[in-house]
Amino acid sequence: MSALFVPPGSDFPAANLPYGVFSPGPGERPRVGVAIGEQVLDLSSFLGDEVFSSPSLNAFMAEGPSRWTEVRRQLTAAVTDDRATEELAAHLHPLGSVVMHLPVEVADYVDFYASEQHATNMGHLFRPGSEPLTPNWKHLPIGYHGRAGTVVVSGTPVRRPCGQRKGPAEPAPSFGPSAKLDIEAEVGFVVGVASTQGEAVPIDSFAEHVFGVVLVNDWSARDIHSFEYVPLGPFLGKSFATSISPWVVPLQALEAARRTPPAQDPRPLSYLRGREEWALELTLEVELNGTVVARPPFSEMYWTAAQQLAHMTVNGASLRTGDLFASGTVSGAEAEGWGSFLELSWNGSRPLHLDDGSERTFLEDGDTVVLRASAPAVGGGRLGFGELSGTVLPAAGRS
Ligand code: MN
Repeated sequence: MSALFVPPGSDFPAANLPYGVFSPGPGERPRVGVAIGEQVLDLSSFLGDEVFSSPSLNAFMAEGPSRWTEVRRQLTAAVTDDRATEELAAHLHPLGSVVMHLPVEVADYVDFYASEQHATNMGHLFRPGSEPLTPNWKHLPIGYHGRAGTVVVSGTPVRRPCGQRKGPAEPAPSFGPSAKLDIEAEVGFVVGVASTQGEAVPIDSFAEHVFGVVLVNDWSARDIHSFEYVPLGPFLGKSFATSISPWVVPLQALEAARRTPPAQDPRPLSYLRGREEWALELTLEVELNGTVVARPPFSEMYWTAAQQLAHMTVNGASLRTGDLFASGTVSGAEAEGWGSFLELSWNGSRPLHLDDGSERTFLEDGDTVVLRASAPAVGGGRLGFGELSGTVLPAAGRS
């Protein structure tokens, strides 16, 4: 068996080559690697370039698309050439034994709201009796600035937040642990190349700035969120933690997943219309305590990441290397494709039945949520994003 054996169905075939930051063992220095099959190739030793000895991908991402293409070409050649196997062996580590770190030093974090089904469901649940979509929704990709400093890597436990909660029948809020802790299954885009303040980034420059794609879990405390969000949007109901996957799938690995986005009516303004089409056929999977509860389809999102990037900078706001912008909850037209427990349980009124015999509406302490995604790979077959997992800890002082 070659050192680079890739098991059938692996998330990490040679057509993927996602980047991450790892330590070969606990306490060892973090460095950049790519996943291939069930192993990690250490780029700091294999390519011997200082940029890969860095504890984040930022330095490499800042180098830009021609360099990304060049390194990808080099790595593709190395992992597909049987004669190179021996040369590679000294730089490979089993995936199961490495420690993964946050791959990106997150600069700014923005979260969008791009699924029409999700926005419609939220409207029904949070603003019953009014139009589910706000009048601006089909004119611009709605978003808010999140908290970059609380973005954590997969495997980091998430403590249940405390805050002000008020039920519709209660006259005043009370303080305590969130009773409606939820997730949002999302797809995140990582910016490599910065832009200049005062200059908009045109929609067709998307691939010149965006390095790659991660899975995002936008943990959300619905009771805190629903009381605080009018009129300035989400704040403490979401800022306590956002988890991302450890592997960043290069945009270049997703060429075969590109699709035509859903038709947009009304036609968006010209800065939101590009020549390139950036809908992506990613199938997400949401698993709670071992039971798959949803398979959200990313290709149905109303606004694309290219439109979001153009919108985010149209006022002259600049990009920084390490910026992360997430899609918003991925919810498809069918209920089995809804990406939050708020929607899946219809605000707690329809419990989900798990394979272990238990029922859930919102998350309980000790619950583990795992997100996965797969996409068509260039040359056939599929590639995956690995796992994004997080376990809920009791609220502070309640363990
Ligand atoms: Mn979100």
